[in-house]
Amino acid sequence: MKSPIRRPARNQSSRRSPFLQRKPSTAASRPFISNPALQRSPQPAATTPTPTQTAAVPAPSTPSPHPSAWPHLKTTAQTLFAKNKLPAATEAYQKAIHFAIINMPPPPGITWRPPATTDIQIDFNLSSADAQTRQTEVEKHPGDYWKWIFFGAGALADTPLYTEAITYHELVHVVQYIAYWRQYQSAGKTGQSWVDFMRPYNETLYAKGPEEMEAHSTSLPFLERGGLSQKETTALYRGMLVSLVNTYAYTGKSRPAYRKTLKGYTAQVLAYFDKTGQKEAFSKALWWALIDSSSDPAVTKKVVTELKRIAAVAYNLPEFKPFCQSFLREQGLMK
Ligand SMILES: [Zn+2]
Repeated sequence: MKSPIRRPARNQSSRRSPFLQRKPSTAASRPFISNPALQRSPQPAATTPTPTQTAAVPAPSTPSPHPSAWPHLKTTAQTLFAKNKLPAATEAYQKAIHFAIINMPPPPGITWRPPATTDIQIDFNLSSADAQTRQTEVEKHPGDYWKWIFFGAGALADTPLYTEAITYHELVHVVQYIAYWRQYQSAGKTGQSWVDFMRPYNETLYAKGPEEMEAHSTSLPFLERGGLSQKETTALYRGMLVSLVNTYAYTGKSRPAYRKTLKGYTAQVLAYFDKTGQKEAFSKALWWALIDSSSDPAVTKKVVTELKRIAAVAYNLPEFKPFCQSFLREQGLMK
């Protein structure tokens, strides 16, 4: 039978999805919607900071004085990009993104400098994510975090709120990188390069689990505010739930504090689900995330158990159920 949702393939083919693309597992960047393969490398013992949840409550931004300017700015940029007029498209993207984010409140932990239009860096080669924060740039420009962030074509979708949400997400990565950079600096002249210092964080499930979830959990207040398109809502759901599944998969035995964090994220996600009018879409996105990211039946079982009332909604849809069941069978969780 035809599956009711697009079933993501396990490897390269999901790159084609506009909403969920894979980065190489060692990528020294934090893409907005990442969906890296599971990694089980051992964790560094004491160096990784526990994610905080302080970044999770973006305040509403000041309404733009000229909200009607958005459709024109966005359409111009998207049209120029579609016509492959890249220098002009770059400028138009800068203007539209700047418009969307100039009044946004930053996450805690950032010394805020509102960007100039020219601070918005566009990289149309960035097809794997809507936006990305790059570690290599931290070392080149430690004092200017706008130089760390790159926006791809997907940074403009339908609404300025979406662009703001993905920028907020990247700024959470900026806060994380500032903390890593300070640790690296305070370690003194050990001879270790920045790349080597960051290697453990990039090669482990930590980056795709708790660290990514810290950034993705900030989607919740944007989703609660309302006004995102259905496409944008689905993209935020999938990105967040993939990182939640990866956070469940992350063992991090050396850092028990993370367990509390996982409990916090689970509670946040359940609380959102209880309030939202999009229960079916959210439930389907959970299954989508599991199918895409959970290769470990024990993780699948844990997620489905802890988020049972979310999983149950799509599972109980007659057209969806066979799809869930075939996945559970594949994982050996059902006969
Ligand atoms: Zn991210």
